[in-house]
Amino acid sequence: MATKDSIITLPNPRLRERSHKVREVTDAVRKLAADMENATLDWEASRDHELGVALAAVQINHLVRLVVVRNDFEDKQDRSFLTLINPEVIQTSGKPEYDHEGCLSVKDVYGLVPRYPAVKIKALNLQGQEMRVKAEGFLARVLQHEIDHTNGILFVDHVTSREGFFHLNEDGHLKPVAYEKVLAAGILDEGL
Ligand code: ZN
Repeated sequence: MATKDSIITLPNPRLRERSHKVREVTDAVRKLAADMENATLDWEASRDHELGVALAAVQINHLVRLVVVRNDFEDKQDRSFLTLINPEVIQTSGKPEYDHEGCLSVKDVYGLVPRYPAVKIKALNLQGQEMRVKAEGFLARVLQHEIDHTNGILFVDHVTSREGFFHLNEDGHLKPVAYEKVLAAGILDEGL
C-alpha cells in the first residue's frame, strides 16, 4: 500500500514529465487508484490544518493519467473519492480568478494561482465508461490543478508575481514567503 512516504516532491524532475494515457482500465489501474487514495489519507492524518483534497498518479511516481479527488471537501470523515482516468478539460468558462493553492508534492509552499471559475471535464471512470463532470468554484480549481499534473505542470508554474508565494504557519494561516527562498528550494522550473 502506498503511504504519505510514497509521495514525491519538487525538485524531483519526474513531476515535470507528461503521464501516459490509460489504454485499458484493468485491476492494476484500480489498485493504483486505491494506492493513491491511501497515500492522500495517510498524508492528511499527518497534518493539522489541511485536507488531502486530491492526487495525481505521478505524485506517487507512476506516470499514468489517473486522478483521485475527494467527494466531500468539507467533511474529513468522508473518506471517499471520485476517480478520473485520462481526464481532459473540454470547456472553460469565465475569466481566470486568483486563489491560494497548495500541493502534496510542493512542501510547505502555497501560491496565488489563476484558474477558470468553471470547467467541463471528460474522463473514464473505474469501470472504463466515459463520464463528464461539470465543475465550478473550488472543485473546478482542483480539477485544473490535477489535470495539470498529468501534463507535468505544477501550480507554482502559474504563479504570476514574486509576491505570490506563502507559507502555512503553525496556527494554519498563510504568511508571505520571500521569492528568493522559493527559488533556492528548487521549486520553480525557471525564475519569474
Ligand atoms: Zn498537486
